[in-house]
Amino acid sequence: MLNIEEFDIKLDTDFIGRNFVFIEQLESTNSFLMENEFYQENGTVVISEYQSQGRGRRGREWNSMPGQNLTFSMLLVRPYRPPEINVLNLGASLAIAQSIENLYQLKVNLKWPNDVLIDNKKVAGILLDSASQGDRVSKVVVGMGINVNQSGFEGEFLFQPTSIRREFGQEVSRERLLSEILNNYEYIVKGSRYNAHKILQDWKSRCKLLGEKIQIVSEKETKYGIFDDIDEEGYLVLKSGEDYERISYGDVSLR
Ligand code: ATP
Repeated sequence: MLNIEEFDIKLDTDFIGRNFVFIEQLESTNSFLMENEFYQENGTVVISEYQSQGRGRRGREWNSMPGQNLTFSMLLVRPYRPPEINVLNLGASLAIAQSIENLYQLKVNLKWPNDVLIDNKKVAGILLDSASQGDRVSKVVVGMGINVNQSGFEGEFLFQPTSIRREFGQEVSRERLLSEILNNYEYIVKGSRYNAHKILQDWKSRCKLLGEKIQIVSEKETKYGIFDDIDEEGYLVLKSGEDYERISYGDVSLR
C-alpha cells in the first residue's frame, strides 16, 4: 500500500499533487480525469494501484502489477498552445529520466516522443489526453506508467520491459520516486512556454537516435530519413535528401 505520508514529506510542488486522489482500482487514471467533471483543480493527481484498462497510445495497453509500480495521471488546466503540448509530452519523459538519474544514478535514454528506456528496455510509458476550446487546449491529462518494483514481465512486447528494481538491483521507494517525479515535472510544466529551449535541449541530450537513419511508422505511411533534430516546438525533424519535414506523430525506430 502506498504510504501517503512518506510521499507527502518529499513533495516540493506548488500545485502538482497538492490535490491527491488515491483510488485502489479503476479502469484508467487518464479516463477518470478526462471524464470526471468533479475534479477541476490544476495539478490534481489521481493514482491507482490497479487499472483494469490501462492505456497506451493508439489503443495500446499498459499492464502493471498491483502494488509494485506507479500508475497515475495529472490534470493540467490552463490554456496551452499546441507547441506547449509537445513540451509537456516530451517533458514528461524527461522528468521521469531526471528522477531515475537523481535517485538511482542509472543511465536513462529517451525515445521520441516519450518512451523512457534503461539499457534499451522500456521502464515507463506516457500518455497525454487533452480537450480543446477553440484553438487552445484547455485541459491536459498526463498519464505515467512506471515499472518500479515489478520483477518480471509476461507477454509480447515491441520493446522489452524492465523495472527500476531490475536495473538498480534492489527494491526502491515508490513514494520517494513519485514525489521526485512530480517535483521535476512541475518545474517543466512551469517552463513549458518560456523555458522550452532548455527543456528540449535536456530531452535531446538523452536521445540516442538523433543523427541516425530512422523510420517513422504511422497508420497512414512509413517515412524514412535521418533524425535531424527536435525543433523549437518539439516536432521531430526528418531529413530526406535535401528535404526537411516536421513530424508530429508516429513510432520511431532505427532503419
Ligand atoms: P512503443 O513502446 O511500442 O513505442 P508506445 O509509445 O505507443 O509504444 P505506450 O503508449 O507508452 O507505448 O505504451 C503502450 C505499449 O507499451 C504497448 O505496446 C505495450 O505492449 C507496452 N507495455 C504495456 N505494459 C508495459 C509495461 N508495464 N512495461 C513496458 N511496456 C509495456
